[in-house]
Amino acid sequence: NQVQGGKYTFAGQVNNYRNTLQQAVPTLNSCRNTVQQGVQTPQLPGQNAVAGVKPKGEYNGPDPQLAARLEKEILDTNPGVRWDDVAGLNEAKRLLQEAVVLPLWMPEYFQGIRRPWRGVLMFGPPGTGKTLLAKAVATECGTTFLNVSCSSLLAKWYGESERRVRCLFDLARARAPSTIFIDEIDSLCSARGAPGENEVSRRVKSELLVQIDGLNNSTNNTAGKPVTVLAATNFPWGLDEALRRRLEKRIYIPLPDFKSRKELIEINLKSITLAPDLDIDQVARRTEGFSGDDLTNICRDASLSGMRRKIAGKNPDEIKNMSKADILKIPVMMDDFLEALDRIQPTVSRGDIERHEKWFSEFGST
Ligand code: ADP
Repeated sequence: NQVQGGKYTFAGQVNNYRNTLQQAVPTLNSCRNTVQQGVQTPQLPGQNAVAGVKPKGEYNGPDPQLAARLEKEILDTNPGVRWDDVAGLNEAKRLLQEAVVLPLWMPEYFQGIRRPWRGVLMFGPPGTGKTLLAKAVATECGTTFLNVSCSSLLAKWYGESERRVRCLFDLARARAPSTIFIDEIDSLCSARGAPGENEVSRRVKSELLVQIDGLNNSTNNTAGKPVTVLAATNFPWGLDEALRRRLEKRIYIPLPDFKSRKELIEINLKSITLAPDLDIDQVARRTEGFSGDDLTNICRDASLSGMRRKIAGKNPDEIKNMSKADILKIPVMMDDFLEALDRIQPTVSRGDIERHEKWFSEFGST
């Protein structure tokens, strides 16, 4: 009996374990799904996000009229730029995903020591894709995108500029999760004693510092509705030191390398008919030192050449009556690019790049 009892007990225990395990299966499955989602998320940013969906929140701040005006002026409801529209800059994309996108997707994880960065600064020569990247961040995570320039915040009446800064942050909190993008932040927040610094900019600067500090303490961050400040500058060395400290993640956006230039040309020529002789590798090799914006100008110029040839010597009536389908089919040739290369020069100087690299080695993030 004892043996039998032992057997029964053993069998009973096995049954118990089996039942327990069976009960645990749904929990395990749900854990696996969570883990799988967690693993996929960093690799496929944006693919799970519903682009352009703007979470609506009521604005309850003190200045509803100003908020409505600002909203009209700076709220970009559809930046419409995907990661794939930005050529190269893979390291910058990775850093932005880690600093801005992931904290939005898994706010529980980004707590305490892992709290999101208070602000992120993108710096580099002009025309390298900083604004484009900011728009891609906003599109890919579907956050409200507040696209602020210096002129939308600075006002001549006493106290008005600070009021706008406060209202901007109230608005961002109401519409959270949101990204405040401040382009050319150096013109708003120049270093103390810099030639551009005046009384207004001093006051705007201190208000901005207060607001950024406030974001960090905000309960919104723990409720999974963060407000992120993303700033861009072509002159990081001109930035106020206190602000620089608050823009904790500082990402260098350099000139495109060969691979990125090739990618950028391909993105620009996506919908254009290409002649068989067009050698994109060669164009990419010959455009070292050109910014993304310079390269885009070259592509635009080259892709217009066929039409210029076609209408040369024709009068306006003849041009109007030309077959549009025929014009669209004119291919872009290698010669068109060579001519564009003769006309368009790189806009960024070697000295400027060296200055950025030096600042990057001193203050940049990797
Ligand atoms: P920045 O903000 O760095 O001055 P932008 O993001 O405004 O530069 O870029 C200006 C233009 O140059 C863009 O609208 C785009 O046409 C082109 N461009 C620059 N960098 C890139 C890039 N990495 N990928 C695709 N296009 C780019």
